[in-house]
Amino acid sequence: MIQSKGYAAQNPKSSLTPFTFERRDPGPKDVVVEIAYCGICHSDIHQVRDEWGGSMYPMVPGHEIVGKVTAVGAEVSKFKVGDLAGVGVTVETCMQCENCRAGAEPYCLKGMVGTYNAKTYEGEMTYGGYANNIVAPEHYVYRISPKLELAAVAPLLCAGITTWSPLRHWGVGPGKKVGIVGLGGLGHMGLKFAHSLGAETALFTTSESKAADAKRLGADEVVISKDAGAMKSHAGKFDFILDCVSAPHDLNEYMSLLRLDGTLCQVGLPDKPLPVWAFSLVTNRRSLSGSMIGGMNETQEMLDYCAEEGIVSDIEMTSIDKLDETYERVLKGDVKYRFVIDLGTLR
Ligand code: NAP
Ligand code: ZN
Repeated sequence: MIQSKGYAAQNPKSSLTPFTFERRDPGPKDVVVEIAYCGICHSDIHQVRDEWGGSMYPMVPGHEIVGKVTAVGAEVSKFKVGDLAGVGVTVETCMQCENCRAGAEPYCLKGMVGTYNAKTYEGEMTYGGYANNIVAPEHYVYRISPKLELAAVAPLLCAGITTWSPLRHWGVGPGKKVGIVGLGGLGHMGLKFAHSLGAETALFTTSESKAADAKRLGADEVVISKDAGAMKSHAGKFDFILDCVSAPHDLNEYMSLLRLDGTLCQVGLPDKPLPVWAFSLVTNRRSLSGSMIGGMNETQEMLDYCAEEGIVSDIEMTSIDKLDETYERVLKGDVKYRFVIDLGTLR
């Protein structure tokens, strides 16, 4: 077994504290990555605090992982020791069902295994990236371009692909009017991508103080969502809205902004149901949808696009001993726009 150390939550109320554990020895298809940086996703906080139910402890969170390959199994062809590599939200799927074969692994019919807070098909607990190393099959490990700042690539592995996948699926590009709701980790990547793909992009925020940043990140327009008049003036104008909000809020307000056949796609995962008024849907023949992370091929495609276009996340570096304080700042929306843990602080 490989000795690992990291930080774990022991229950929904505890702070994260140092934790030592073991990972499997690499099998023929496995890659071992020494973790350099790991992003802090709001999903880490939801799961540490058991806001979605079913959390398993001890929990080592973290699914925005980048680092260097330190060992590879005999059948690994994509990586050699010393390569940069990334691991995201998924570490196992059946690879045989129709969804896996279509490159839509997050929707694996046998169930996708998360990078943490999950059990592998063999029944072993998975532990995430708030740690010094990780072992994963090469199918779930991504090539990272040395052209980009490594720490700022980490958030692409979740916040990046979770916004890229629906923007691509719904054909966002020139001639489309797109709204991004919530300027956090996901939202700021959604904004960068929608702008880069050529859509006319508006950013909806509850935080007036973020307006200037939103413009810099690619918004053609910033709408303060608490301003009822401003919201009303955009009624029926959007082709596609990507909702990245982590807390309960009124979806009907955003549905009303969609034009004929427009789609609202929910990627934020609040801990309570979001009521929808039927009239919000039937008016303008609107669609309400959702999207979960993205497939392995499209994740690599997104990373390659980012390398070509020079797109990375806007990050604030933090250290492993400051997780409590960092989580509190994420909960207050006080992050510009993704915290990344420097795992050098663990050694
Ligand atoms: P984050 O950085 O905390 O950003 C969330 C943003 O939502 C905040 O910055 C804030 O933006 C807005 N917001 C927060 N509370 C609000 C409230 N009460 N009313 C209205 N707006 C509010 O979180 P994140 O890491 O981007 O994650 C966002 C959500 O996506 C989380 O629920 C996470 O679990 C989920 N997620 C889903 C997937 C998936 O596969 N679907 C993947 C990853 C994460 P403003 O200040 O601009 O209003
Ligand atoms: Zn995430």
